[in-house]
Amino acid sequence: MRLILLGPPGAGKGTQARMLSEIAGIPQIASGDLLRAAVREKTELGRKVEGILERGDLVPDEIVVKLIEERLDAPDARHGFILDGFPRSLPQAELLAAMLSGRGTAIDRALAVMVPDEEIVRRISGRRTCRKCQAMYNVATEPPRTDGVCDKCGGELYQREDDAEETVRHRLEVYNASTRPLLDYYERAGILARIDGVGSPDEVERRMVAALDGLIPSKSRKGKK
Ligand code: AMP
Repeated sequence: MRLILLGPPGAGKGTQARMLSEIAGIPQIASGDLLRAAVREKTELGRKVEGILERGDLVPDEIVVKLIEERLDAPDARHGFILDGFPRSLPQAELLAAMLSGRGTAIDRALAVMVPDEEIVRRISGRRTCRKCQAMYNVATEPPRTDGVCDKCGGELYQREDDAEETVRHRLEVYNASTRPLLDYYERAGILARIDGVGSPDEVERRMVAALDGLIPSKSRKGKK
């Protein structure tokens, strides 16, 4: 199953991608995580994109497409993947389609997580990430057991620079200008499903799984409500 998750920053794409990845046994590939890892590791690419990420602008297509292409060629992505945060523009979507068609495959479904702008701003300002394992929390809706400490690995939780309110509003503008047109693109291709992203992560997950009718083998869904 080859999936794309679309939606504004803070719509819960990362949380949903991780849940679906577990259910379906295919990797989550998050372009933002790949870029942030490059920044942390201070690679040449990381130094190039650091300022762009801090401002909440889009990294040039050729950089992010190359990163994704390398990742899609890894053995664990051969039979499926969940793309989270990529593509983010029409040129990226077209490059992705060409990349996959060259490998004899295509995207099965694009799931768009729909959340109103004001709810996004409220959610993101509460968002915290673990410095060590990148697990995500929300002080309002999914708080860690101990303030500032990751439940999973004990790492320190921090607020991403680009999660500051002003930057979030800018990222929403960038989303509306560059990424929202992809909804029409995938709708025309007949593979778009819009998912109401307001509700608990479990509720949203159930809507996602329902929209993937038949794509997730029933075997992998055992034990799930
Ligand atoms: P995210 O974690 O998906 O919100 O991404 C964080 C930041 O990484 C974005 O604000 C962009 O600066 C950059 N980024 C992530 N994915 C892409 C992409 N597909 N194209 C361009 N820039 C991206």
